[in-house]
Amino acid sequence: MAHQSDLIAEDIDAYLKAHEVKSLLRFLTCGSVDDGKSTLIGRLLYDSKMIFEDQLAALEADSRKVGTQGGEIDFALLVDGLAAEREQGITIDVAYRFFSTDKRKFIVADTPGHEQYTRNMVTGASTADAAVILIDARRGVLTQSRRHSYLVSLLGIRHVVLAVNKMDLVDWSQQVFDDIVADYRLFADQIGIRHFTAIPMSALKGDNITEPSPLSPWYDGPPLLRWLEDAPVEDVVAEQPFRMPVQWVNRPNLDFRGFSGFIAAGTVSPGDKIKALPSGRESTVARIVTLDGNLDRAVAGQSVTLTLTDEIDVSRGDVLAAAGDPPGVADQFETTLVWFDDEAMIPGRPYLMKMGARTVSAQVTEPKYKVNVNTLEHLAATRLELNEIGVCNLLLDAPIAFDPYAETKDLGGFILVDRMTHRTVGAGMIHFALRRSQNIHWQALDVSKAARAAQKGQTPRVVWLTGLSGAGKSTIANLLEKRLHAAGRHTYLLDGDNVRHGLNKDLGFTEEDRVENIRRVAEVAKLMTEAGLIVLVSFISPFRAERRMARELMAEGEFLEVHVHAPLAEAERRDVKGLYKKARAGQLKNFTGVDSPYEAPESPEIRIDTTQMTAEEAAEQIFTTLTL
Ligand code: ADP
Repeated sequence: MAHQSDLIAEDIDAYLKAHEVKSLLRFLTCGSVDDGKSTLIGRLLYDSKMIFEDQLAALEADSRKVGTQGGEIDFALLVDGLAAEREQGITIDVAYRFFSTDKRKFIVADTPGHEQYTRNMVTGASTADAAVILIDARRGVLTQSRRHSYLVSLLGIRHVVLAVNKMDLVDWSQQVFDDIVADYRLFADQIGIRHFTAIPMSALKGDNITEPSPLSPWYDGPPLLRWLEDAPVEDVVAEQPFRMPVQWVNRPNLDFRGFSGFIAAGTVSPGDKIKALPSGRESTVARIVTLDGNLDRAVAGQSVTLTLTDEIDVSRGDVLAAAGDPPGVADQFETTLVWFDDEAMIPGRPYLMKMGARTVSAQVTEPKYKVNVNTLEHLAATRLELNEIGVCNLLLDAPIAFDPYAETKDLGGFILVDRMTHRTVGAGMIHFALRRSQNIHWQALDVSKAARAAQKGQTPRVVWLTGLSGAGKSTIANLLEKRLHAAGRHTYLLDGDNVRHGLNKDLGFTEEDRVENIRRVAEVAKLMTEAGLIVLVSFISPFRAERRMARELMAEGEFLEVHVHAPLAEAERRDVKGLYKKARAGQLKNFTGVDSPYEAPESPEIRIDTTQMTAEEAAEQIFTTLTL
């Protein structure tokens, strides 16, 4: 949809040119049901002439039919396009809408206000330059307003409007307005919102939206639209040191090698010294190439291709930065994490972290605390559930270039992705790198894994037996170890129960503890392969994610997953340790197969059905596979 302007008829080229160079403001509206959010957005679209004639006719007809505004136009109907929303009377998803005025283009993210939509709000706010926080003048600053403001501050949105709406319903009382502003200021100070502009308005009647309203002679600030047109945006990032995450390496032929990306901060010119990170190699910018020819200078917000004077190694996901003021490089951070997924964040579970074009394997540690988003209280937590926010450490498998989120959003903001489903499960903001990670280095050892293995005359392996309790893992592992031992192999058997007597004595059977149990055992198994051993692991290990983590810790081809299968009824009938009986009697909590899930392997290297094969046959089959 285009903006209506006289220029369109008079001089379309001039109109298009003007439109192209207009700056863009992305903003977010937040408020709860009935604060008038949809009405406000509808009003902005209407007043900036962004509604087609036929839409207007439909809107008038709908307004008469629904009758919420006594025959007047109900702008909320324009925005609440979804039938389900209309019926429930709430806005359910993030909707992005575009409009423009002669001065500026706007993208507004309209996000729902309920607490169960925290993740939607975070999604909508992540790219916003400004936030409009709606307050119903009759109700004042509510819990929801505080929650929305906290998220706005958390996401580092610097420009905030407190839109005190429905002033017509409080007779345009200056006292009411001043009280609300004073109340909000107290809270804003507490959460680090230093500046905000409070505007008294009526979205429904159109007061203080595009023009100053005669009903508020005591208010001398700008109407909302003028504020939105004048809010400064790009300047701040342009003044920062240069940062450009590399989206792709552009190499159409042997003579040209350019690095393409979006400038996240600062400016760049040919001749500037730059540093590539995490490698730390330096070079100088030769040219700034764009579709419209070479540039003398490019600034934050532009997408460009840089060529360098030297052939240095740069890959997708690396960052090019000002050599004199580069970002940090680290692999452990303190972060604030917002959880998006129905499945909780479990400390120690492997996820993928994506920041720009960079993807790295990641683990999250136990939250230091989670935040009650309504009261800002810090609460103890062992995990983060859907829509919860907590402060956690993030541990990566490889170092990345970063800035604190508060300095450069693009180098400090990240998402976490589920390794199997590729769903986005969380979003986070880096506070700082943990110093300990910078002080621990790999010590080079002269006797290598290969040397240790060669001395034993074998190839290190991990045989990972997984299955229900009573399926036969320990029995088979024991026979297999005897068989290997007899054949002169050097082995070690890590048995679930035995390890829980020592190393994992502190762990119970909650999901969190089970994940940690497997993480430690996998690390121990890895050390043992470094020692050149053939390691047998006999653990229920009920979750796919952790078995996969174990597999990925080991060298290619080293990990052999064996699913020792017995139907639940059969395992329960065997009940070697009497545990099923206890679990059924309610004396044992979180027992796999009874009140805790078992996720069977999808493609194990070996699958043993213990109802079809004896333990000896099973051990022999694994032995043969191992020694092939
Ligand atoms: P897990 O280690 O998986 O908890 P155990 O090895 O301790 O299981 O117990 C399995 C029980 O099932 C043992 O009593 C074993 O004798 C019996 N069993 C019966 N058939 C088999 C089989 N084919 N393979 C392994 N164990 C079997």
